[in-house]
Order: sequence, then structure tokens, then C-alpha cells
Amino acid sequence: MKKILITGAAGFLGSHLCDRFINEGFHVIAMDNLITGDLKNIAHLFPSEHFEFYHHDVTKFVHIPGKLDYILHFASPASPIDYLKIPIQTLKVGSLGTHNLLGLARVKKARILIASTSEVYGDPLVHPQTEAYFGNVNTIGPRGVYDEAKRFQESLTMAYHSFHGLETRIVRIFNTYGPRMRLNDGRVIPAFMGQALRGEDLTVFGDGNQTRSFCYVDDQIEGIYRLLMSDYALPVNIGNPDEITINEFAQEILKLTGTDQKIVYKPLPENDPLQRQPDISKAKELLGWEPKIKREEGMRLTYNYFQSLSDQELLKEEH
Ligand code: NAD
Ligand code: UDP
Repeated sequence: MKKILITGAAGFLGSHLCDRFINEGFHVIAMDNLITGDLKNIAHLFPSEHFEFYHHDVTKFVHIPGKLDYILHFASPASPIDYLKIPIQTLKVGSLGTHNLLGLARVKKARILIASTSEVYGDPLVHPQTEAYFGNVNTIGPRGVYDEAKRFQESLTMAYHSFHGLETRIVRIFNTYGPRMRLNDGRVIPAFMGQALRGEDLTVFGDGNQTRSFCYVDDQIEGIYRLLMSDYALPVNIGNPDEITINEFAQEILKLTGTDQKIVYKPLPENDPLQRQPDISKAKELLGWEPKIKREEGMRLTYNYFQSLSDQELLKEEH
């Protein structure tokens, strides 16, 4: 039986990856320090004899007994309000955490995939973004702690690949959404859906003409799975190229939720990228992958999830 370590396992993407690898017949070792994650996302897996959970901070030395075939390094705050609240931990998990996991992969002769991001492109001057684009990041801006941690993570991973011959994979994830996102994590989809459910006005930042391209979680997990199983070591964009302005998106949410709240405008956060759309030619060609789930369907599934939360969770203040 193949053994896989998944870091950030109690978070949104990590928990879906745990489900996928359990379903594929792997023995899953889940690791998380619960700084932005929640055990409820993986509680259903605890009865499985092929699932183990380690409560551990990956910026500290990581030890796993026995053999290990694969590592997925997904631990990192991922929402702008999270990484602004814990900037130093964000830098550490991308740098020291990645170093620990690359070291572990080397000792175990395991293949490692690291979760990078479209944020390596910063506020992009090339549109749509191909993997060949070097990016436009303000190193000392508020988002720099996340963007630069991820850029360093990619460099370190490639160095382990070239220098030590480690089997590495790098996925550049574009905005992904779905059930198990934290309702109050500040990202636009849970923000708008929470506001709709609480009867509050929808807060659009800036003039709302900035764009994003949203990928449903099941499509993202399929892309990550195929990349891990491929033999391709350079970065690959995984995301849905269906681009939309935040204004249009707010209108779609109002339609979906059948609510008649207003849209209110708030200042645009510093260095908020004005446009973002993945070029997924590489993923199509190398992995035979492209997203299947349309935004309308993905949003409905996500809204059903948020609706199923208790009133207590809905009203919970951010930690
Ligand atoms: P999330 O906040 O839901 O999950 C991150 C998990 O990592 C949490 O459970 C958190 O407790 C854990 N964690 C953080 N620091 C840790 C540490 N030092 N040690 C152990 N665990 C730690 O976020 P997510 O959306 O699931 O993102 C997961 C990964 O995917 C991140 O690396 C993120 O940068 C990347 N990513 C996500 C998106 C997206 O749209 N969701 C986009 C680009 C990249
Ligand atoms: N955004 C918004 N209102 C909110 C939260 C976010 O208008 O309540 C905007 C944000 O400024 C950005 C876009 O939505 O332009 C996506 O933000 P998110 O935090 O989800 O992801 P990221 O900026 O990291 O792509």
C-alpha cells in the first residue's frame, strides 16, 4: 500500500486531498497545526485504519517513521486576511516548512508536490498568465509575505530537484473554492455567501472591475492528482480560465441566493491584483486535464454547504 503525507490536511484543499487519496487506496498521514484549519474537515476519516493525524507545525523538524512514497505540502495560510494576521508564520511555512519537507522527501526517497499559487505572478502585466511569466510582485507590500514565501518555495524545490535529483512537482493553484472553505476566512466567495446568508450587504473592494477566475475544488483535486502522477517537474498552472469581474460575480451571488441586499464599495486592499486568468495549455497537453464544473454548478454546491452550517457557525466572529 502506498503511503502519502499531506500537510495542511485539516484545511480546505488538504482535507479534499485526504479524501481523494483514501479513495485511491493510499495510507494517508495527515499533518496540521490547525492555525487556519479545522479538525471537523477530516473528522469523518478518523475511523479509517489507513488514516493517521499528526498535530504538528511543519516549520519544526518533521519526523515520520517507516517508508513514505509521496508528500503533498499544502500547509500555509492561503487567504489574504490570514496571511496579513500571521505574516511571519506565513513566511516560515513557505521557507522553513518547505525545507523540512524536501529534506524528509530526500531521506525517504519520496516524490514531493508543493502547493504554489497564481500569486507568484503578483499583479500580472501578462494576461492570461502562462508558466513562462516571471511575475510582478512587490516584495515589501502586505501580500509580499505570501507571494515571496511561495516564490522561494518554488526555487528551493527546483534546487532540490536539480542538485539532489529529488522527484518534485509544483502546482500553481488559481483561486479555488468549494465546501469546507472557512466562512469567515475573508476570501471573496465565503465573504459574499456569508453576507447573503446573514442578510448583510455584499462588500465589493475597489471599483469591482478587477477579475478572478474561479475553479471548483473537485476539478482542482483532479489536476493535482494527475500532476503528482506525471513525470513533469516544472510548474504547472491549475485553474479555471472562466474569468469574471468581482462586480459581475457579486450580481451572480445575489441571483443564486435570491436575496436583495445592496452592493457596497470598500477600499481596494494594497497590491490587490487587477486581473487574473490562468493559461492552462500546459495542463491540457501534459495531463489531459481541464476543468469540467461550470461556475453556476460549483457555486450552487458551495452555497448548499454554507447553508447547511449552523446559525452559530454563521455568526461566528473571525479568530
Ligand atoms: P487553508 O487555510 O484552508 O489550509 C491551510 C492549512 O495549513 C490549514 O489547515 C492550516 O492549519 C495549515 N497550516 C498552516 N501553517 C501550518 C504549519 N506551520 N504547520 C502545519 N500546518 C499548517 O487554505 P487552502 O485554501 O486549503 O490552501 C492550501 C494550500 O493551497 C496553501 O499552501 C495555499 O497557499 C495553496 N493555495 C490555495 C489556493 C486556493 O484558492 N484555495 C490558491 C493558491 C494556493
Ligand atoms: N474581494 C471583495 N470583497 C470581499 C473580499 C474580496 O471585493 O469581501 C475582492 C478582493 O479585493 C479581490 C477578489 O475579491 O479582488 C478576490 O479576493 P480573494 O481574497 O478571494 O482572493 P485573492 O485576492 O487572493 O485572489
